[in-house]
Amino acid sequence: MKLEKDETIFVAGHRGMVGSAIHQCLLKDGFTKVIGRSRSELDLLDRRAVREFFQKERPAVVVDAAAKVGGILANNEQPVEFLLQNLTMQNNLVEAAADFGAGKLLFLGSSCIYPKLAPQPIAEDSLLTGPLEPTNDAYALAKIAGIKLCQSYARQYGKNFISAMPTNLYGPHDNYDLHSSHVLPALIRKVHEAKLSGAKSIPVWGSGTPRREFLHTDDLADACLFLLEKYDQPDVINVGCGEDVTILELAETVCDVLGFEGTLEFDASKPDGTPRKLLDIAKIKSLGWTPKIPLREGIADAYDWFVGNQSTARR
Ligand code: GDP
Repeated sequence: MKLEKDETIFVAGHRGMVGSAIHQCLLKDGFTKVIGRSRSELDLLDRRAVREFFQKERPAVVVDAAAKVGGILANNEQPVEFLLQNLTMQNNLVEAAADFGAGKLLFLGSSCIYPKLAPQPIAEDSLLTGPLEPTNDAYALAKIAGIKLCQSYARQYGKNFISAMPTNLYGPHDNYDLHSSHVLPALIRKVHEAKLSGAKSIPVWGSGTPRREFLHTDDLADACLFLLEKYDQPDVINVGCGEDVTILELAETVCDVLGFEGTLEFDASKPDGTPRKLLDIAKIKSLGWTPKIPLREGIADAYDWFVGNQSTARR
């Protein structure tokens, strides 16, 4: 769908890691009416407030980058909040977008929607072919429900509501709280603090053998804009970088990029999660999109943001 530069685009979650990258990307691309609301301005859990907002602003395009997210431990410990909050926020948003005339909606899911033991790299048609990874099945189920809601609006009401599935993401505005964060910001913080304190090692959760794929949020934002303009199908589409690394390799790369020469201590009491999660990105590539930011460069960028924003970063 061709987007006009003066179309009103609402980015839900524009203060978060993903939403802020998309918001910036749209502004950089010349869109003049990109709107966002902080949590205190609009509580996405409040259906009535969401409907009032949509009735007043009538965004033509909606990007749903609002979600309760967290790393393996947070997901494992709070399945109720991950399930309830994500279902409620996405239901409120998607329903209001449909009822108040949005022409296009992009729903963002996650690679954890796919079965734990899906064949690798994971193609879009693996969805719902097997059991989920238990450490984040609540979050995954909420996201699957969001995909189905968008597909249902497409089928029943002809809505151009699409769903993209990004791989593990990192970038500026990430969460650096060691209990609830994902692995990459956790490693950046641990290595940074070890350098400062002169510690000889850093703890790394699990065995170091799981494989993960990492995409910088600027690449994701670029893909989102590409999909908004070029992709009009209800079928999910993967967004990744096409390559994965073991957690051991990731930790070594972070040490190298940050200049830390200590050792890694694996903590077997923490869960490994799914053994591998590499997305098959043939579909988006065939449409003409490719990722651009190499992992080392992306880690250096995320680290710069962390160092420059320590007082405000979530930690
Ligand atoms: P996942 O992709 O849903 O499993 O999410 P995470 O990013 O939280 O974890 C990815 C992998 O990194 C898992 O195997 C974790 O055990 C491992 N890992 C190693 N150290 C850490 C850490 O300090 N924090 C987190 N969150 N994960 C870590």
